[in-house]
Amino acid sequence: MYRFIVFIMPFLDLPGTLLKVYKMGPESLDYTLSFFSAYFMEEVTMEDSSRAPLWGRIGGGSPIFCILPFLLVFSISLHSLKVVDVEDAGERKRYYTYSRTVEGLLQAAGIELQCGDGVEPDRGQLINCGDVISIQRSVTVGCGNSPDELLSPDMETEAESVNKEYVTEKEAIPYSTVKVNNPMLDRGTVRVKQEGEEGLREKVTEVLVRERKEISRTVVSTQVINPPQDRVVEYGTGNLLSRDGRTYQYEEVLTVNATAYCPGTPGSGCPIDGRGASRCTGFYNDGYTFSGARAVAGDGSRNNPHIIAVDPAVIPLQSLVYIEGFGFARAEDTGGAIKGLKIDVLFDRHADALDFGRRQVKLYLLEQ
Ligand SMILES: [Zn+2]
Repeated sequence: MYRFIVFIMPFLDLPGTLLKVYKMGPESLDYTLSFFSAYFMEEVTMEDSSRAPLWGRIGGGSPIFCILPFLLVFSISLHSLKVVDVEDAGERKRYYTYSRTVEGLLQAAGIELQCGDGVEPDRGQLINCGDVISIQRSVTVGCGNSPDELLSPDMETEAESVNKEYVTEKEAIPYSTVKVNNPMLDRGTVRVKQEGEEGLREKVTEVLVRERKEISRTVVSTQVINPPQDRVVEYGTGNLLSRDGRTYQYEEVLTVNATAYCPGTPGSGCPIDGRGASRCTGFYNDGYTFSGARAVAGDGSRNNPHIIAVDPAVIPLQSLVYIEGFGFARAEDTGGAIKGLKIDVLFDRHADALDFGRRQVKLYLLEQ
């Protein structure tokens, strides 16, 4: 069997009465092009009697048959029709084209590439029959997608917008407390020398908002408008008491509640009940204190101090103290109601004790 390949050039394309064209493959006629713009490749067998006349009519000594090879080469190089598949975003379409390059095909087919889209082979590449041109469409990536997520064209990528806002706020600056010692103050005394004042600061915060939801908040600047003022507290370290031209060292300064009592002896004027108990000292009304001293009020001088009843857990018995506004006193007595920061001052007469009443006094516990 002899096989011939017959190329029919567009300009050789004669009416169907002259040439009978046979298809090579099943698809060739699907895209029937005008005979004036295309050529077909065709196999013809000489044994096929129905086609023999056709062949004979072309080749039978016609001068045109002699230039056929040259025209053939020329036409292949310039005008070859190519069947090309284009795969665009996963969808494959078949195109028939005379374009020589990918670019030309895309233009002719009206396929637009957006910025970021890729095409394989490159736009400038020559295309051959049977090529598959693949287009990779770019994907818009929104903030909602995880960076690790694989991108796909049908991915739900919301092009979400992140708004940046700046918030200016004023806020208070807390003050610090500073402690200072003051030897001019009695030991144990605490005094606020200066009240603290809060300062004021302006703060600028950058807030990132996506879909009305705050996603981050960052302080980008702060500026002090008013600095805070420290609270200054003085702590007394002094332990010297000067009275009557003498200086006494003291261990502690106490603020105590003071009441008064009388010895409860018949001469004091203290009410005595039917069983012989006085109102101030009960049955301890023999004229002596708990420590055994005579229950006679002093004058508050260093040598003749007052007598007071104390809680020995706070002020040891026999201690010498100085009571502001009242003078020296010695702890000689105790009392059922005298517990903690309380003292009871002895007066010789019940009436004087009543006059004293109840008052708060400052007491220096002197070094013994
Ligand atoms: Zn009394």
